[in-house]
Amino acid sequence: MTNHDRAPAILAIDLDAVVANWRLIKARAPGAEAAAVVKADGYGLGAARVAKALARAGCRSFFVATIDEGIALRKVLPEQALYVLCGPLPGAGMDLVAHRLVPVLNSLEQIGLWLGLGRATGEALPAILHIDTGMNRLGLDAAAVAHLAAEPALLEGLSVPLVMSHMACADEPGHAMNRAQLDAFNALAGRLGLAAPRSLAASSTVFLGADYHFDMVRPGAALYGVNPVPGQPNPMAPVARLEAKILQVRDVDTPQTVGYGATHHVAAKGRIATVAAGYADGLFRSLGNRGFGVIEGVRVPVVGRISMDLTTFDVSGLAPDVARPGAVIELLGPDHTVDDLALEAGTIGYEVLTALGARYHRVYAGGAR
Ligand SMILES: *Cc1c(COP(=O)(O)O)cnc(C)c1O
Repeated sequence: MTNHDRAPAILAIDLDAVVANWRLIKARAPGAEAAAVVKADGYGLGAARVAKALARAGCRSFFVATIDEGIALRKVLPEQALYVLCGPLPGAGMDLVAHRLVPVLNSLEQIGLWLGLGRATGEALPAILHIDTGMNRLGLDAAAVAHLAAEPALLEGLSVPLVMSHMACADEPGHAMNRAQLDAFNALAGRLGLAAPRSLAASSTVFLGADYHFDMVRPGAALYGVNPVPGQPNPMAPVARLEAKILQVRDVDTPQTVGYGATHHVAAKGRIATVAAGYADGLFRSLGNRGFGVIEGVRVPVVGRISMDLTTFDVSGLAPDVARPGAVIELLGPDHTVDDLALEAGTIGYEVLTALGARYHRVYAGGAR
């Protein structure tokens, strides 16, 4: 077990901020149900805690990626609709039924599998149908939709609570793919001839406007504080705060170097602070000589390579009684956001969050009834 006092790095997760972000999304798509995507352990922040807080706030529908994620979530959410984005592989259908998980069916094969199970159990089993409108990743393509439209009896064996698709370029509002996918979704969903509700929008898509909202929006990243509108001010509240305690501060002078590979050459007499968090904790190695932390509002640069368990910062600009052993360097928080760290690492906020390590001492605040 981790312990707050002996833990060298603390990850604080604000569940009230998650709830506030969900409410903001809900307000941006007033006609639609707001679901929550809690795959990948709630984008690394704890699916059970996040989902319970959102369920208390009134969220009724949750998306996970895998059946195992769904089984785990069912234990904490007995009532809510749980949708499994990957759908079933052959042989996995009974696990979905046993835990009342509703698969997203992405192919004719998956539809066939689910129909077969429905015949065996004597029920029209519930399933979301996923239409591919341009991702070419998962989902029914135009030919599969045509096949289903030509044989409407097939779909009579299913109970379909939702027809959905997923956008490729929604974080670029001017991208031509957005309108093209919207048009394709309207056309293909119409061709299925079902009265089922529809859903197209993940986080960024919500901000493309009402045409894209349909009956349900499926935000993930925005709930966790990632900016859904890159290039514009982030409307979401920060959720994760990551603070690493300084283990040691050492005086350095030329001609010394810092860390593996001696990639940082000390240019002038100064001080280096070392914290106990490294790439094994999700501080990407690409942050070496590129990332930043913040001590009492002052930005301090990462110098040298990121090690597995350790990272070094140049704290020469700070007074010794500020940058001292035991003082904390903020790695994520209001002064250095998930998106800031992502930019420095050459990635996106999604990857920063889902890479957050298991060694951090986790503290949850808020989320109460
Ligand atoms: C992950 C995912 C979402 C949520 O996406 P965000 O960009 O994190 O909001 C929604 N729908 C599908 C199909 C997804 O795979």
